[in-house]
Amino acid sequence: MARGWTGALVDLVLPVQCLGCGIPEIAWCSACQDAACQLRLHSPDPAPVGFPPTVAAAEYAGDVRLAILGAKDRGRRDLVGPVATLLGWAAQAAVPPAERWLVVPMPSNPAAARARGGDHMVRIGLRATAGSGHLFVEALSAGHSGEATRLGAAGRLADRRRSMRLRRDAAALLAGRDVLLVDDIVTTGSTLATAAALVRSAGARAVRAAVVAATEKEVTRR
Ligand SMILES: [Zn+2]
Repeated sequence: MARGWTGALVDLVLPVQCLGCGIPEIAWCSACQDAACQLRLHSPDPAPVGFPPTVAAAEYAGDVRLAILGAKDRGRRDLVGPVATLLGWAAQAAVPPAERWLVVPMPSNPAAARARGGDHMVRIGLRATAGSGHLFVEALSAGHSGEATRLGAAGRLADRRRSMRLRRDAAALLAGRDVLLVDDIVTTGSTLATAAALVRSAGARAVRAAVVAATEKEVTRR
C-alpha cells in the first residue's frame, strides 16, 4: 500500500516520458516497443528436463528490462499495458491461430505479490491475452517456506519453484487441454519446467510457454 501511494506521488511530481526515446506523456511508445520486440523460440542452455517450447518477445536488456522492472517492482501501472503488448505478441507466436488454449500465469510468492499490490503476472497476462479467445486460469500457486524474507534472490527463486503447486480448484480444468504458460522473464528455465510438469501431471495435452523476455544471466526476481 505504501509503495502504491509513493508511486502515485512520484507520477504526479515527475513528468512521464517514454523510457526508450524520451518523448513526453507516454510510458513506452509503440515505436520503441516495436524496436525492442525480437520474437524468437528460446531455450536455455542447458535446458532443464521438460522445458516447454517457449517464445520470448525480447531479450532482457535495455528498454525491456526497465519496462518489466517498472511494471513489476516499481508500481508503474502505466507500463503494464506496454509489457502486456509484448507478451501478447509472444503468445500469438506460440499458439496456432484460432486455437483456444488455457493461459496459466506463473505465480508469485504471496509475500512478493502483497508487496507489489497484487500478482503482476496475473495483471500482465490478463491484459496480454484479452480478446484472444483463450481462457485465463490461475492454476498454479506458490507458497513459501516461511524463510523467504531471509533468502537472497537465488534462494527466493528456488523457494518459489519448490513451493509451486497446482491449485486444487483449477487442476480439473487442465485435463485434455492445451496450456500456454506465461511469465515475465525466463532465465534457467527451471520455473517453467516445474510448471510444465505440474500441468502435465493434471492431464494437460500440449504445453508451451510465452514470456516477455529471455536472459542468459541470472536475474533478481521473486
Ligand atoms: Zn519511445
